[in-house]
Amino acid sequence: MSAKFIDDTLQILNPITHNEVGRYTIADEENIRKTIAEVKGDTSWSSLTLSKRCYYIKKLRKALVKHQAEIHNTLKNETGKPDFDILIEIFTTLEHLKEITKIAKTALKISKRSSGLMKTKKAYVKYEPLGVAGVISPWNYPLATPVTSIVEALLAGNNVVLKPSEHTPMTSVLIKEIWDKEVGYKDCFKILIGGGNVGSAIVESKDIDIICFTGSTAIGKIIAAQCAKTLKPHLLELGGKDPMVVLKDANLNRSVESALFGGLSNSGQTCISTEEVFIERPIYEKFVKKISNRIKDIKSGGVDGDLGSMIMPQNTDKVNRHIKEAEQSCKVIRGSVDNGDMFIAPTLVLDPSSDLSIVNEETFGPVLSLRSFSDEDELLDMLHQTGYGLSSSIFGKNKLRINKIVKQIK
Ligand code: NAD
Repeated sequence: MSAKFIDDTLQILNPITHNEVGRYTIADEENIRKTIAEVKGDTSWSSLTLSKRCYYIKKLRKALVKHQAEIHNTLKNETGKPDFDILIEIFTTLEHLKEITKIAKTALKISKRSSGLMKTKKAYVKYEPLGVAGVISPWNYPLATPVTSIVEALLAGNNVVLKPSEHTPMTSVLIKEIWDKEVGYKDCFKILIGGGNVGSAIVESKDIDIICFTGSTAIGKIIAAQCAKTLKPHLLELGGKDPMVVLKDANLNRSVESALFGGLSNSGQTCISTEEVFIERPIYEKFVKKISNRIKDIKSGGVDGDLGSMIMPQNTDKVNRHIKEAEQSCKVIRGSVDNGDMFIAPTLVLDPSSDLSIVNEETFGPVLSLRSFSDEDELLDMLHQTGYGLSSSIFGKNKLRINKIVKQIK
């Protein structure tokens, strides 16, 4: 368990120890209405100039550095991630804030346009805030995902109502405390705690002007349908099957290590985790031998473990289901695992048939499936089977061939 609904409270449990690490009141209809109305009514942030907004976001970045130890402990408590994965998340967030503040200065500034035949007129594009952004986030990166969405909305002059995942709300609550203490502007950004029904109420609210959703494709479709009723703008960052392609002239060591890094970092719980590897037939056996030897030395859990805990129980069940199903018909090679129900041994599934869940659904765990292909047509058919890749990578030396394949990946 990582979260339990108990009456009107949400109890957060550490996924490894199952001990309570936090407890929050779930927002009810009245809290939702009041919070959204307060954020809607605030004009202090939206009336700031773009350069002032950039100044405060830089201030937030400095504050996150100052409070790094607290953020680290909170992430560890609510996700069970190992220190390495937490540091990657913190540094990614800080880098994003640095970069997006630079981009905002040019992307959001007034830009001139030609006035065409109307030579006596001037034309320009000026970006205005939309209003209140409803940010709904998942549990796998409780710092990076909400912070990047919130900051992008704020830089554009919007106010924000955030609903973090019910499984990992603690880091968001800490971010809000840091924001209030170090930046101020308390009413332009508020949090609502709860499950899918709270998210749904945010999507439905007439006072929310845009939805920024990060999460599963299934919930993304529901939100898109809800938004369509009022033509509410929405940004959807969803899940996928993230293939990696290894061509016959690829550097074997590099591609094996990249597959392991891409598939196993954060225990595979990343939207762009490599989930499946397609290897050109002439090097398939060599690739399988090398990666199989490497994975046997990789361990999940324990004090000396390489991989950390799974974060969310339902997702852990899904990953185990995918592996069990594959074991019925495929060779499965596994690293080791220290006891504990929330750890999964790093896993390779060889040659799964196209009807298996591991081929058709996002697995979201430390599992890589390996398949061979003999020509580009066969490769593209396999790549397009799930219909939604999200990310993909390709290893090889022949740039012409790589670019030809990349152009055809949809
Ligand atoms: P999820 O879709 O189950 O939940 C995401 C959020 O939506 C949670 O806060 C949840 O409470 C809320 N929600 C649930 N039902 C809702 C509804 N009907 N209306 C409004 N909100 C609702 O996803 P998850 O399990 O938390 O996260 C894992 C998924 O997120 C994976 O598929 C992963 O690939 C994806 N993800 C994508 C990105 C990206 O940038 N593309 C980043 C991180 C995670």
